[in-house]
Amino acid sequence: MSSILEMESVSKTYGKGHAAVQAVDQASMKIDPGEIVLVMGPSGSGKTTLLSIAGLLLKPTQGRLLINGESINGKSQRQMADLRLHTLGFIFQAYNLLSALSARENVEIVMSMAGKRGKAASQRTTEILEKLGLGSRMHHLPADLSGGEKQRVAIARALANDPQLILADEPTGNLDSKTGEEVMGLFCHGMGREQGRSMIIVTHNPEFERIADRVLWLEDGRLSEGNGRIQH
Ligand code: ADP
Ligand code: MG
Repeated sequence: MSSILEMESVSKTYGKGHAAVQAVDQASMKIDPGEIVLVMGPSGSGKTTLLSIAGLLLKPTQGRLLINGESINGKSQRQMADLRLHTLGFIFQAYNLLSALSARENVEIVMSMAGKRGKAASQRTTEILEKLGLGSRMHHLPADLSGGEKQRVAIARALANDPQLILADEPTGNLDSKTGEEVMGLFCHGMGREQGRSMIIVTHNPEFERIADRVLWLEDGRLSEGNGRIQH
């Protein structure tokens, strides 16, 4: 079985000459189906850059990226967009919900972009939102939801098209510790690890180590195995 994601010696430099910043420096990793991998490291160490590359939101300056064993090099914009829509799911620290749309519309819009409309899509939206405890909040706008609720909507949106890999950038970073704990619980249960879904979670929250298979450490753009394989 091939890895869901493979990075081979990926680097990213922002800017040029004196202003150049090497945000990621020859990072390599493999994520297997069903694996939960944490990426930890100080602020400015390149975590968001690394995750954006893994999520096809940012092009690396060097190196190779494979999704399900296929190289991204040479894929068209359209094929990349399809991968982002069907294979990957994103969760951001600041939720990034569309403020004019209700909770359920935020979920439905990404299904619609993937060609899923009508009754089946509507039912699936209700199911996901209910499972995440948002049954009574479906018609609320993001502004009328708490931080924890907004992040749960963002999780629902990330799950909408049943992706193989979830990429989460400091998903509890804006939440108080109790709400963060609840959101973390959803990464553990209810996000479908049973179905072989993989996750890369960037976090400062050591609580996540409890649910992770591996921890990777990033420092000055260099990636290394952190605590190694966690013994549960
Ligand atoms: P982290 O998420 O670990 O805080 P980032 O990936 O955001 O780290 O940033 C890594 C480095 O790259 C930092 O030095 C940051 O200032 C720099 N950087 C990030 N984004 C940009 C950008 N768009 N242009 C220039 N430099 C950037
Ligand atoms: Mg960051």
